[in-house]
Amino acid sequence: MLWLAFGPFHAMENQVLVIRIKIPNRGAVDWTVTSGPQLLFRDVLDVIGQVLPEATTTAFEYEDEDGDRITVRSDEEMKAMLSYYYSTVMEQQVNGQLIEPLQIFPRACKPPGERNIHGLKVNTRAGPSQHSSPAVSDALPSNSLKKSSAELKKILANGQMNEQDIRYRDTLGHGNGGTVYKAYHVPSGKILAVKVILLDITLELQKQIMSELEILYKCDSSYIIGFYGAFFVENRISICTEFMDGGSLDVYRKIPEHVLGRIAVAVVKGLTYLWSLKILHRDVKPSNMLVNTRGQVKLCDFGVSTQLVNSIAKTYVGTNAYMAPERISGEQYGIHSDVWSLGISFMEPLQLLQCIVDEDSPVLPVGEFSEPFVHFITQCMRKQPKERPAPEELMGHPFIVQFNDGNAAVVSMWVCRALEERRGQQGPP
Ligand code: ATP
Ligand code: MG
Repeated sequence: MLWLAFGPFHAMENQVLVIRIKIPNRGAVDWTVTSGPQLLFRDVLDVIGQVLPEATTTAFEYEDEDGDRITVRSDEEMKAMLSYYYSTVMEQQVNGQLIEPLQIFPRACKPPGERNIHGLKVNTRAGPSQHSSPAVSDALPSNSLKKSSAELKKILANGQMNEQDIRYRDTLGHGNGGTVYKAYHVPSGKILAVKVILLDITLELQKQIMSELEILYKCDSSYIIGFYGAFFVENRISICTEFMDGGSLDVYRKIPEHVLGRIAVAVVKGLTYLWSLKILHRDVKPSNMLVNTRGQVKLCDFGVSTQLVNSIAKTYVGTNAYMAPERISGEQYGIHSDVWSLGISFMEPLQLLQCIVDEDSPVLPVGEFSEPFVHFITQCMRKQPKERPAPEELMGHPFIVQFNDGNAAVVSMWVCRALEERRGQQGPP
């Protein structure tokens, strides 16, 4: 099987690549490429020219995770496509799924007349082709069954998420409020993260929570976890969200500053987005910052439902180390309090909660971190809420500006390497 041939992310680029050239209304042709990242835009057009000789193709497209088409017209855009594809392969590999070929859609071509005039082989298998020349594949069952996440979102947003369609698998972790499971959604074939919280509340309150969660459908940012739906069964609520294969930041030990910087950028963008919707996060901490092997960083567990927060709070004991001093002493909570938690989330080692309330704000060990990083943390952790940076100042801070380059590959490689190491330590399954 092809996926067995794939090693860690960096080694993957030397492996066999199968490009599936989709032909309008007529199936597809699988082309096995051995040159991998050295592949040029021109080479792809040449092969498309062989497959569709009667059409003039000047560009082609591929689909991103939301099913949106992205056009490729140059070697630069080819590189971006391959980097995106290799990260999806890594994700499929981590999830134990079959590796899907890279699908491309030739553009500006007339519908082909008679095809297969160049002696192309017919590939009737469901899996990726191992042929070294283009091969026409017929039914493409694995692809036709797979729904794009945009499509999935549409289905789930129609309230079609229910207990019967979900198969709970591993436990991802326990929090104060509930337990998070990795789960399989049967109708869509998607892996989800489902948070199950036990709540002994009235039907009225259940309804109120469900309506308060409605706003999650409107949250549309690549820095916020995707929401698929929620439902009550007896005295528990299940909240279904996008599964992040890298898990939360709290399980990563030492994060190098150039990686942490890119993560901080995503977190600041996620918070800025929530604040723009007048949502305060209220629980900013490393376990609520999720990463995946694509290098994406997303926030989860923000307080959109006051009723849900209140109901969980009744069973919640103690406080947490990321809370701002004004919150611990029961004063008003605002954007500034989220900013404090942002600062402390990126600070290691953590200081004792008592120190934060009673003494001066903690400072980072000098020498270990860059000056902009230390400045960023110290500004976020000013004891007076109003002295902390406002949202627009956060985005303009030199530490954030420095790492705001959209380089997801840095985070992606770091997550992939950490997962490999973790798997190595656990030994063979
Ligand atoms: P608290 O209850 O105080 O917020 P917590 O964030 O650690 O603490 P949960 O929110 O219940 O607790 O999450 C438990 C664990 O599940 C997290 O630490 C994280 O590792 C994992 N997790 C949560 N959501 C996802 C997700 N969407 N994808 C992958 N892992 C997740
Ligand atoms: Mg959480």
